[in-house]
Amino acid sequence: MHRRCPHLLGRLFVWIAGGFGRKLPANPQTIVSMFWDQQIETMGRSALEQLQVKRLQATVRRVAKSVPFYQQKFAERGLKPGDLKSLEDLRRLPFTANADLRATYPKGLVAVPAEELARLHTSSGTTGKPKALFFSRKDVDNAAELIARCFVMTGCTRDDIFQNMMTYGLFTGALVMHYGAEKVGCLVIPAGPGNSEKQLLLMQDFRSTVLHITPSYALYFATYLESRGINPRKDLAIRKAFIGAEPYTEETRRKIEKALGVDVYNSYGLSEMNGPGVAFECEHKRGMHLWEDHYIAEIIDPQTSEPLPDGKRGELVLTTLCREAMPILRYRTRDITSVIAEPCPCGRTHRRLNRITGRSDDMLIVRGVNIYPQQIEQVLMAVPQVGRNYLIVLDGLDDMTVKVELAESGFDGRVEHLVGLQTEIVNRLRAEILTKPKVELVPPGTLPVSEGKAKRVVDNRRL
Ligand code: ADP
Ligand code: ZN
Repeated sequence: MHRRCPHLLGRLFVWIAGGFGRKLPANPQTIVSMFWDQQIETMGRSALEQLQVKRLQATVRRVAKSVPFYQQKFAERGLKPGDLKSLEDLRRLPFTANADLRATYPKGLVAVPAEELARLHTSSGTTGKPKALFFSRKDVDNAAELIARCFVMTGCTRDDIFQNMMTYGLFTGALVMHYGAEKVGCLVIPAGPGNSEKQLLLMQDFRSTVLHITPSYALYFATYLESRGINPRKDLAIRKAFIGAEPYTEETRRKIEKALGVDVYNSYGLSEMNGPGVAFECEHKRGMHLWEDHYIAEIIDPQTSEPLPDGKRGELVLTTLCREAMPILRYRTRDITSVIAEPCPCGRTHRRLNRITGRSDDMLIVRGVNIYPQQIEQVLMAVPQVGRNYLIVLDGLDDMTVKVELAESGFDGRVEHLVGLQTEIVNRLRAEILTKPKVELVPPGTLPVSEGKAKRVVDNRRL
């Protein structure tokens, strides 16, 4: 009880709601506010920043003592751990790039003796070779703690039945969420991805209330339910879906919410920072609270590496503050977003990240124009006749074809007579991406679906 509601006011509320000292109901969390650790989540900015400085200093001391990679970087800059006095000094620290993690594979940037290592994950390898990420026991527990905050923030309680439809294994996505859900006290169903028939059976038989799923699989699963004549609002108990692991647009969120009858919460994380639970939406769904007592976020210009002010879109750079086994300084995530500094009506003081619009290395250059796949998705998902999947194919010298699945409803088995729709999509795309792609309409369910992260671009160009 104490753990769930450390704040004095919160305890008073529980006492009153519980009937002035009467025995509390079986599930006190359902009447407690939507905080897992209110003291931390609503901490004043200056106290939070002081905590960040203290933890950053400890992190820097730790890597300076035991990680040769950082020792060398500090030596090159003539930097001593004691030089770090304030958050502004963060800029004096070196960046850590994706390539640095690959170069240190398989040992990683480990900062503790081998016997203190408790778990190994690797990145899912969306781009290139894997990276080895090590956790100590405390790191495993901290990651679960942050997930617990995220769950409770969206109103989850121990009454929830959590169906985890992400890939288990080396990928952090499923396991880290699993541990966090257990901490909250949910019943956890480790379903893994794919096999829609089995997923549906689990949802029906165990009345799952919360799903963890990729946007692409959520869209696919919605089509599956439709084909089985299942109305999720009536026939299933699902109410929430935590969706992340790949970029998706607001249009896609709305589509999933409508088709699955759930509230979708955007969930952001990356293996290099413990996996999911780095940033997550609260009930207001206007940006994702980044847990700033565990991570420091900076936004930089990906080309010049210069810092950008709050509100400006650029590359997210993250520094771990509590990681024992493998602290990482100023990690270049390549994810493009911006920071929302305005206070959130939920009362949490941790700043929010805007939706990730893609990775700096997702950017396609087609006929000299910079294009993010998300721009294309945004256009497509706003067209009612468009279904739930698309593929961008680049061919020849610089030819772009967008293959677009049609929606099941209203499709009569023929695509040839849909010239008007095709032209409309071409025009809408041209207005957004400033170049004219070819558009190929294809019947529903004919484009490949991956169980893990969606593959949206096939680049066969001879450039
Ligand atoms: P990788 O994909 O690099 O092999 P991860 O499995 O750790 O490794 O994936 C982390 C990446 O997934 C993030 O850096 C980001 O690009 C993407 N991602 C995760 N969550 C989201 C989200 N909610 N929105 C957009 N992109 C996301
Ligand atoms: Zn909020």
